[in-house]
Amino acid sequence: MHTTCRSLEGTRRALYIGGRFVEPKSGRYIPSFDPTTAEPWYELADAGPEDVDDAVAAARAAFTDPAWRRMTQSDRGKLVRRLAELILANAEELALMETRDNGKLIKEMRAQMRAMPDSYTYFAGMADKLQGDTIPVNKLDMLNFNLREPLGVVGMITPWNSPLMLLTGTLAPCLAIGNTVVIKPSEHATASTLALAELVAEAGFPAGVVNVVTGNGATAGEALTRHPGIAKFVFTGSTETGSRIAANAAKNLVPCQMELGGKSPHVVFGDVDIERTVNGVVAGVFAAAGQTCVAGSRCFVEASIYDRFVEALVARTGRIAVGHPMEEATDIGPLALSAQLAKVEGYVASGLRDGARLAAGGKRPQAAGLDKGWYFEPTVLADARNDMGFMREEIFGPVVGVVPFASEDEMIAMANDTRYGLASGVWTSDIDRAMRFATRIDAGTVWINTYRAAAYMSSNGGFKQSGYGRRGGFDVMREFSRSKNVVIDYSGAMQDPFVIR
Ligand code: NAD
Repeated sequence: MHTTCRSLEGTRRALYIGGRFVEPKSGRYIPSFDPTTAEPWYELADAGPEDVDDAVAAARAAFTDPAWRRMTQSDRGKLVRRLAELILANAEELALMETRDNGKLIKEMRAQMRAMPDSYTYFAGMADKLQGDTIPVNKLDMLNFNLREPLGVVGMITPWNSPLMLLTGTLAPCLAIGNTVVIKPSEHATASTLALAELVAEAGFPAGVVNVVTGNGATAGEALTRHPGIAKFVFTGSTETGSRIAANAAKNLVPCQMELGGKSPHVVFGDVDIERTVNGVVAGVFAAAGQTCVAGSRCFVEASIYDRFVEALVARTGRIAVGHPMEEATDIGPLALSAQLAKVEGYVASGLRDGARLAAGGKRPQAAGLDKGWYFEPTVLADARNDMGFMREEIFGPVVGVVPFASEDEMIAMANDTRYGLASGVWTSDIDRAMRFATRIDAGTVWINTYRAAAYMSSNGGFKQSGYGRRGGFDVMREFSRSKNVVIDYSGAMQDPFVIR
């Protein structure tokens, strides 16, 4: 490997099944676009149901293959650690691939790739810590215990916004625990996941432990989620797709873990340092051009500082550098997809129609060099109301709506008045107030005087239509293993065959 990024230029990329790259049975390929030029830069295989069958069969065979099933726990852990080393050694190329595929800043992708190996190393430590328990049985000369074992084949469907980082919190523990996986990355950002598959092979994992089927959601994704050979699905993506996947999986009674969309509230009280808080609000909503699931896109500001806060937010937004994602000085790159750009433009127009005030941004930048790509200015829609359409739906773009509030009760009612419950942020110098917010908000994550601070050691996930199941931390060992109850009678006594023991 090590040249995958460059060799992908203008090339076709096959499926990764059973430890080899194979052509899709249909022979169909689809283009992946560079968001800075709107030009295709390689073609990926569009897997169909037969390819998905092959991938699941390879993963099922690998699951029971003694080369994997009878590998010792510490040897499995060593493989995951080796993978961490290879990711670090290839961090630059993996970062370049993601920037090219989704237009996210190279400086952010470099930071993600360099941090990722620590996360793999943490989960590698789970390999020799999965343990069952002994349980009282209330009978003499009997032993009652639970074994903990891997689930089987885990299906993982990922979005385009941070393909490898979003895979880590589930792929690394799944491998450490002894599961096998079939990954279906987004058709908009496939390159880095295929490169990771090569690193998995190089690390020495047996063939079939990790498989990658690329292609459209409606074809490859649907075929995978309807497959009865999967033990559990892990999905990261939009709420609408998640609901469809859960329905497909339910037909086979396959459980799911869902990390879905958000419309997170960001709350600012009147007692804050305005400059520092504005910076935090900007980081919360405009980072990655707003293409983060936790984007704090509804900003509620206490009426006592509302005008001053909006003024400072507009001034800070005006200093955001929109530019090419490869430039170090760039703060915001393009949106990843042309459809995404159209969606953002549509929501801004609807916010203005509903009576919000355009305080900053609101259009595509005019600067030379940005005319071809899918760029959009960071946009502040002030004097918004929580019931406006653009405040109800996830935009996944650089748009924040700002709403004044008079009392804590009013603010909590608005903040919780959403179908989502992924993340939230509160800025105040009053710890009592901050804790009241933390206990009353319906969101899986609460940040106090910070935003987007994540740790793979803690377990996270959404409430309401932002998903279910938890990722990260030690809880994940239970999410990706199952318990089997075993009872031994060592009395040697004859049982009454007609009475339950
Ligand atoms: P998406 O739902 O359009 O696609 C996600 C994945 O699902 C892709 O691989 C796609 O091919 C696949 N897919 C689409 N239709 C399918 C179907 N019918 N059956 C099976 N698979 C199908 O999401 P996206 O646009 O790629 O990503 C953006 C969304 O992801 C946003 O809503 C964002 O909030 C969410 N997201 C959530 C988290 C989180 O941790 N909660 C993290 C990142 C992104």
